[in-house]
Amino acid sequence: MKREKTLVTSAWPYLNVTPHLGNLVGSLLSADVYARYCRLKGEDVVMVSGSDEHGTPIEVEAIRLGVSPKELTDRNHAKIVGLLGKWGISFDNYTRTENPVHKEFVRKHLMEIYDNGYIFTKETEMLFCEKCNRFLPDRFVEGKCPYCGYERARGDQCEQCGRLLEPTLLIDPYCAICRSTPVIRKTKHWYFDLPKLSQEINSYLKGNDRLPTNAKNFSLKLIKEGLEPRAVTRDVSWGIPAPFPGAEDKTVYVWVEAVLGYVSATIEYFKNRQDPEKWKEYWFDKDAKTLYFIGKDNIPFHTVILPALLLASGEDYNLPWNVSATEFLQFKGEKASKSQKVGIWIDEALELFPADYWRYFLMCTRPETKDSNFSWDLFIEKVNADLNDTFGNFIHRTLTFINTQFNSGIPEAKALDVDAGQALENLKEKVEAVAKDMEDCKLQSAANTVISISRVGNQYLNEKEPWNLIKTDRGKAANVFYVAAQFVKALSVISAPFIPFAAEEIWKTLNLPGSVHDQKWDEALKPLPANYKITKAKPIFKKIDADAEELEDRLETIRESLTKTA
Ligand SMILES: [Zn+2]
Ligand SMILES: [Zn+2]
Repeated sequence: MKREKTLVTSAWPYLNVTPHLGNLVGSLLSADVYARYCRLKGEDVVMVSGSDEHGTPIEVEAIRLGVSPKELTDRNHAKIVGLLGKWGISFDNYTRTENPVHKEFVRKHLMEIYDNGYIFTKETEMLFCEKCNRFLPDRFVEGKCPYCGYERARGDQCEQCGRLLEPTLLIDPYCAICRSTPVIRKTKHWYFDLPKLSQEINSYLKGNDRLPTNAKNFSLKLIKEGLEPRAVTRDVSWGIPAPFPGAEDKTVYVWVEAVLGYVSATIEYFKNRQDPEKWKEYWFDKDAKTLYFIGKDNIPFHTVILPALLLASGEDYNLPWNVSATEFLQFKGEKASKSQKVGIWIDEALELFPADYWRYFLMCTRPETKDSNFSWDLFIEKVNADLNDTFGNFIHRTLTFINTQFNSGIPEAKALDVDAGQALENLKEKVEAVAKDMEDCKLQSAANTVISISRVGNQYLNEKEPWNLIKTDRGKAANVFYVAAQFVKALSVISAPFIPFAAEEIWKTLNLPGSVHDQKWDEALKPLPANYKITKAKPIFKKIDADAEELEDRLETIRESLTKTA
């Protein structure tokens, strides 16, 4: 049977700072949960992403730190790779934009677009800082957003309203390095003729029914307002040398190359596996799916710019099959900000609690239709009530009872009654509901349904009271635990995308062969046979016995010690 080809991607973390939970939830973590699900479904999955390391924010940061941009990104890339491993993010290829395959691909792709007539040059006026003696593209300049009035809009995009900007559009601009007021100078740049592709992008967007409403409406609105040509080159030194004739002293603008990284990361992955042509199956075979997991601030790059770049090559690339864009995860009602000490960063989080606690929390509150707000109280509630008291407790009480009362053997089921049949039917329906939600990228609902299965299991135990039954009718108690054991096995498989570490522990406690992550989704509903010996159960989660204030204090202490060691 031909396995379905699925390319799962997530927005490339930008390497100037460690991601915070809000960066993680919609992109890297969502992509991981989805990719893990697809692998369980037996699809031929490749999951790629990487560190986005060129561009002015890195250069600005490196200038501020007094190091070279490469030194800064080497350090930050190594750090993020380590952290993603600890978070259980299961990339097939997590690469970086400094990799040679990427640089070569970007230059080649841009020349194809150039040869097809989608690149033109224009002399423009750019902001120039006389004090720093440099042009001020993108984040070298800040000022007031002409659309929404946000005071600290950057030269490339307004963080508040999400609109793409040009430095000269900013009201009251100032140099981000020295804060002087810039002057205007002439410079020549190469531009991507985005308006030429409006028609094609419009029909792509209208014809794609899978795109979530937020991504679709936002993108169609951009097209209706009219697309503008976008500069492809920059007057900066940190980046990929521009390939166009006459552009030898320019570098490629980071927005172009970062999105092309999805293609180059796939190329690099198969090149490293000595199968250099196989990437094409994911990018050109019309039955292959490409999915992008991003935050909403990234929508235009994935629904307009990436499709445009792919279309302009004339090579019949697959356009995004789906773009799952989450809303923002806020902290205290605000966007995360390191300087304001608002937010939780992914390194700090793991110093506080194991990855699965965070993974579950972030997925069961994933901001899918509106911005969500992090609170310690909600975190404590989700971990204690859902993970510990419901999921963990159901599994632990079931397995411990089998350990002690049935000598660790799965009890034999004889003449299951109506209730048992109903419980198993309910389990089957819920497992199918999780699958349906996953396929629709409704990861929040899927995560909550996983917990609800253990809730059903707990209710079943409470109604049947097998701890009493065992004294009067051992056969009936055996039936109850036979059913409960099937719930545990199913939970191990279907929770694996969300809480991969705990799922593996449960799988091992059930003494099943191999790893839960190498199983197929159908395995969830394949019954454990009678007399199958399990190992000794251990509690899976620990209750958080601290209140919001104490956790905030602990975070503060961790933050201080991490800052010291950095
Ligand atoms: Zn704005
Ligand atoms: Zn300056």
